[in-house]
Amino acid sequence: MSALAEIEARVAAAVAAAGRPAGSAKLLAVSKVQPRTRVEAVLQAGHRTYGENRVQEAQGRWEPLRDLYDDIDLHLIGPLQTNKIKPALDLFNTIHTLDRDRLARKLATEIQARGAAPRLLVQVNVGEEAQKAGIDPAKADAFIAACRDEYDLPIAGVMAIPPADQPPEPHFKALADIAHRNGLDEISMGMSADFEAAIAHGATMIRVGSAIFGARDPSGVTT
Ligand SMILES: *Cc1c(COP(=O)(O)O)cnc(C)c1O
Repeated sequence: MSALAEIEARVAAAVAAAGRPAGSAKLLAVSKVQPRTRVEAVLQAGHRTYGENRVQEAQGRWEPLRDLYDDIDLHLIGPLQTNKIKPALDLFNTIHTLDRDRLARKLATEIQARGAAPRLLVQVNVGEEAQKAGIDPAKADAFIAACRDEYDLPIAGVMAIPPADQPPEPHFKALADIAHRNGLDEISMGMSADFEAAIAHGATMIRVGSAIFGARDPSGVTT
């Protein structure tokens, strides 16, 4: 069985074990920094949903691949700088990393000019880590309300990356609570090491890279 098929089977089993409907956790294959040959193997296996964490890298990779494969669904899971909003909106169907006021305001302006919006998720810094992106959990409700009411942005859900050195479950639970109390359907959480626990806590989008493609080359060469 391919690594992709194995992960798909584990996702389906975790969804069933949680008593959730089949297909209720979408698998994003995180292709950042992976060689093109590995990505094309997964494309050829029929997978169409991918996560990338840099706008420019994603453009270089996916603009040509989009001409070769239909129905590619691209998700931005890394930080978005305001000067990259236009190329990000050209490329991504879903943006997981809306996390500050200035970004919300500039996104809103561009979305209004285009008359079309991607799906937007608010990133929450659930571990309150100084170096990590995301809105502070205590400010999440007010920020989500401002995105909706002041900026008229269609917020679909929330996303988080729990601290690497702690058990993720309390953070998954905290993120799911934020989604539920704000009436949001989409919860993006869980990576290669912990996606089953994330599904048990209600993840609707899981972001799996190395378990599908193999370890990332730290030199960052993409060919
Ligand atoms: C790289 C990355 C992932 C995937 O990590 P793996 O451990 O390789 O599964 C998931 N989410 C985000 C935000 C990432 O940057």
